[in-house]
Amino acid sequence: MITTSVCIIGAGPGGATAALQLDRLGISCVVVDKAVFPRDKVCGDGLSGKVITGLEKIDKGIAERLRQFIEKENSWGVTFVSPGRQRLDVPYKPNYNKTQDAPIGFVCKRIHFDNFLVDELKRSPNIRLFEGVSIDKYTQEEDGYLLSDAKGTFTVKADLIIIANGAHSSFTRDVAGIRMEPKYYAAGIRAYYKGVKGMHADSFIELHFLKNLLPGYLWIFPLPNGEANVGMDMLSDAVRDRKVNLKTLLTDTLKQDPIFAERFRDAEMTSSLDGYGLPLGSRKRRLSGERYMLVGDAAFLIDPFTGEGIGNAVYSGAIAAKQAAACLEAGNFSGEAMMAYDESVYRVLGPELKLSHRLQQLVRYPRLFNWLMKMGMKNKQLKDVISCMFYEVDLRKKLTRPSFYFKLLLNR
Ligand SMILES: Cc1cc2nc3c(=O)[nH]c(=O)nc-3n(C[C@H](O)[C@H](O)[C@H](O)COP(=O)(O)OP(=O)(O)OC[C@H]3O[C@@H](n4cnc5c(N)ncnc54)[C@H](O)[C@@H]3O)c2cc1C
Repeated sequence: MITTSVCIIGAGPGGATAALQLDRLGISCVVVDKAVFPRDKVCGDGLSGKVITGLEKIDKGIAERLRQFIEKENSWGVTFVSPGRQRLDVPYKPNYNKTQDAPIGFVCKRIHFDNFLVDELKRSPNIRLFEGVSIDKYTQEEDGYLLSDAKGTFTVKADLIIIANGAHSSFTRDVAGIRMEPKYYAAGIRAYYKGVKGMHADSFIELHFLKNLLPGYLWIFPLPNGEANVGMDMLSDAVRDRKVNLKTLLTDTLKQDPIFAERFRDAEMTSSLDGYGLPLGSRKRRLSGERYMLVGDAAFLIDPFTGEGIGNAVYSGAIAAKQAAACLEAGNFSGEAMMAYDESVYRVLGPELKLSHRLQQLVRYPRLFNWLMKMGMKNKQLKDVISCMFYEVDLRKKLTRPSFYFKLLLNR
């Protein structure tokens, strides 16, 4: 049996970050993942500024190595396409200079990005990583958690566990008691394509807010070597109520919609079309209990508006590691002590999640959306707000204030 003070289940962005932060705090840990890396994860592969900022806070060296990582595409902005098909190109930074400015956003296949993080884990002798082991049993004992695979051939005893095993975590469901609620959960699918025409010269990511998907969207994210990640997501209650088959909807849309049909005429799908769940952080939940903390998707922390979850996994992983350090020092792993983790997560991520939930409600209305986009094309103030909304919470706040729309109307 392996014994450790902290055991992390899952080596995706949430678990890997927790391990890296623990390491930088001088605490050794065990990380267990059921997959053998490099492994794929169904995702849009969009890495927002939050990912690099989060890694930078842990160790500037990691962020620098990610900037130099060749398997990613630097992206300089977002193209929004409204339900009425107006297009708005919004750079992440006004008047950016590709040769002088550090890029803010990246698109990187998860098979590469997650492996980059796992390579970072392997650099540290304080992190013991076990790949290809699925933790299926969790037994709470007086002095810790006993974890094992289904057959009981692999066992770990830990003072404290960090649950980072993603959207389908059985611990989240069975022990933490967090249930999937279709109105706060989305279904997403994606495939890789080669040869999609009409991509932006500066690799802007594209979000197409099609009427039948709202508040979800169809995305086209540019990747290196002329590839693109193409997918769509939709709220799970809409999928259920409208009996939508997302895979058919995506392939039909790309074939039948005149704009996409032209752009995808000579494109080739280079992967299978796969789906996965998106547990949205639309409301507060209890994220910890005696001797455990949930991070990333296992904690339901995906941004309800942008669908971004990697940045929040990175942030929550780092917060969990700091909380683990505090608990180890105090020798206190009680549910009350762990509450400090919930408080930190919601202090850091809560305001943004709340805003995004409100924005998600707002974009359900295609007319409002169309109008906003038309205004955005003419109005610099609005364009700046949209430009920074993926990265700047304070600016995003403006979009949910009625006074903002009054001012826009008056300035027309
Ligand atoms: C279609 C789709 C598109 C998305 N697009 C984006 C995007 O463009 N940008 C963005 O930021 N986010 C996006 N997301 C969300 C993002 O993928 C997640 O938020 C992110 O992967 C969360 O990281 P995590 O570390 O919490 O979990 P994961 O990345 O899911 O990692 C969990 C790890 O746990 C392991 N594991 C699972 N069960 C066990 C077990 N029993 N024992 C041991 N190990 C286990 C898995 O093998 C895996 O390595 C998207 C999600 C979907 C579904």
